[in-house]
Amino acid sequence: MDYIAKNISQITALVEKSSKDSHQNGDTIKLLAVSKGQNVDKIRAAWRAGVRCFDENYLQEALKKMVELADLEIEWHFIGAVQGNKAGAIAEHFSWVHTIDRARVADLLAKHRPRQLPPLNVCIQVNIDAEASKAGATTGEVAALARHITGLPALCLRGLTVIPKPRAGLEEQREPFRRARQLLEQLRKCSPELRSLDTLSMGMSNDVAAAVMEGATIIRVGTALFGPREIRR
Ligand SMILES: *Cc1c(COP(=O)(O)O)cnc(C)c1O
Repeated sequence: MDYIAKNISQITALVEKSSKDSHQNGDTIKLLAVSKGQNVDKIRAAWRAGVRCFDENYLQEALKKMVELADLEIEWHFIGAVQGNKAGAIAEHFSWVHTIDRARVADLLAKHRPRQLPPLNVCIQVNIDAEASKAGATTGEVAALARHITGLPALCLRGLTVIPKPRAGLEEQREPFRRARQLLEQLRKCSPELRSLDTLSMGMSNDVAAAVMEGATIIRVGTALFGPREIRR
């Protein structure tokens, strides 16, 4: 599985180059390995190559891996849809949830976050291209949702997550990420509690360079790091 270490250094090099070209601070960008559909041996290979943060979309798959990988120090991030009946387990087992799109989801996660754990880091997922098929708050809903979340002490609102629709070409790909960055900047000015928002979770295998150029602080990379997903659901 040497190819995983090689993929990671290629991604790291691309992040460095893209941030340098666009005068962003690349040192603070966090690489998350999207391990949905990948087996635990591959996760171990990525861990040996230095990755400490892993993303899962499906609770059952994630819980199984957490048991098998209990010997590794891993920061788990949840990036799937939060179903009401799963919110309790998600709040217990993850450090971050990137996909809050309405107040009810935030309330459920807050209610179930164990008090002995630090606040759950969360991002609001924004449906940046207003696609009917996609989850996420509308840009117009974001400010009210953000204020709601800052009223929940069990959650720590960090910023925004976006998954734009696929586009060809670097300039085209940058455009929705730029809007996400502007949205975060506006939000930070909305009220004092929102001034500390510091996270733009954006950029996947096919658009990571564009996202970094527009100020991504967290990139979520799956297939470019691990190869094709093999666990079928
Ligand atoms: C699957 C997934 C990714 C990773 O996608 P790749 O194209 O494999 O890099 C990133 N973010 C989310 C929310 C995903 O569901």
